[in-house]
Amino acid sequence: MAKKKAPEEVHEAVELHSKMFRDLMLGFVRVHVLHHASIEAIYGSGISAELEHHGYKLSWGTLYPLLHNLTAEGFLEREDHVVNGKVRKYYTITPLGRRALKEARLKALELVNEVVHEGDAEILEKRLTSG
Ligand SMILES: [Zn+2]
Repeated sequence: MAKKKAPEEVHEAVELHSKMFRDLMLGFVRVHVLHHASIEAIYGSGISAELEHHGYKLSWGTLYPLLHNLTAEGFLEREDHVVNGKVRKYYTITPLGRRALKEARLKALELVNEVVHEGDAEILEKRLTSG
């Protein structure tokens, strides 16, 4: 019989090997990005830190194409500003992006309503505060 894997090992294997899981996480990241861009203009390193706070560690090779694609698809609008002598790309949400965000929020609410159980809020709180 194969040795039973520790939960962390299994989690890592899922993260590394499952395209389904990766696609799902990237979908969540897109919603996060749209949400923050609906509040204020966002930029690469700022949104990267915000996502990390939520437990998503994205490489630039993933984050920049994601921002580029959201822009190309018309959900975000890019504006370049010079900050400390360097060009920084800022992104804000478009009316189409707002519509997509509204739809995604409703879908997320419906999903949470169905999959979240009693006591889950405490589990989440513990995970977020334990660093
Ligand atoms: Zn966030």
